[in-house]
Amino acid sequence: MIVDMHVHTNVSSRCSSIKPQELVDRARELGLDAVAVTEHSTHKGAQVVHDFARERGFKVFRGMEVYTELGDMLVFGWEEHVRYYLFPFKDLKKEVEERGGIIIPAHPCRGLDVRHKHRQELAGELLEAIVAIETRNGLITKKGNDQAERIRKKYGLFGIGGSDAHHVSHLGRCLTVFEDEPGDDKELIEVLRGGRYHAAYFEEVMGSE
Ligand SMILES: [Zn+2]
Ligand SMILES: [Zn+2]
Repeated sequence: MIVDMHVHTNVSSRCSSIKPQELVDRARELGLDAVAVTEHSTHKGAQVVHDFARERGFKVFRGMEVYTELGDMLVFGWEEHVRYYLFPFKDLKKEVEERGGIIIPAHPCRGLDVRHKHRQELAGELLEAIVAIETRNGLITKKGNDQAERIRKKYGLFGIGGSDAHHVSHLGRCLTVFEDEPGDDKELIEVLRGGRYHAAYFEEVMGSE
C-alpha cells in the first residue's frame, strides 16, 4: 500500500492551496492508495478531507502536525485543536500516549531552524517516545533526508515518507510503502508501530512520471 503520509490542505492550513477535490484527483492520478492529511495544530482539516474523500471512494488517514520545542511532530490518534504555538513535547507525549496514538518527528534534519537541531542525534526524551521518524520529506534537500536516514539507522527506528505538500504539484514526492493494508486510523497506528514499511522517493516506487 502506497501512502503519502504528510499533506496539508487549504481546509485548515492557510499556507496550503490544495483543495480536497484536487487532492483526491491528483492522488488517484499518481496511483497512490491513500494520503494522510496532517494540518498544522489541528485535526479538523483531516476530518473534513477524510469525509469528503470517503464519499468519493478514496482513503484519507487523519493526523496532524504539532510544533514542539523538539521540532515538528506528526501525530496520529489525537483529535485536537491546539493553539498555533510551541506545544511542550512532554505534554504532547502524555496526551497522545493516553489515547493510544503515535508521534513521528517530521523532517528531523531540516535546515537552520533551531528547533530541528537533530544533526547527529535525537534527544533522549524524544527517543523514548518514538518508533519512527520521517526520513523522506518532499520539502527537504536530499542531504537533509539522508541525514535523517542515518539517524534512523543509528537508533534502530522505522522511517516514513511524506511530501509535506502545500501545493498540488508537490503531492506524492515522498511516500511510505506499507507491506500491510491498514483499513482505518487505528490500524494505521498499529502498522506504524510494527515497522513493516519504508520511506521512498516517488521515482523509486513509481518510476518517472
Ligand atoms: Zn513541519
Ligand atoms: Zn508539514
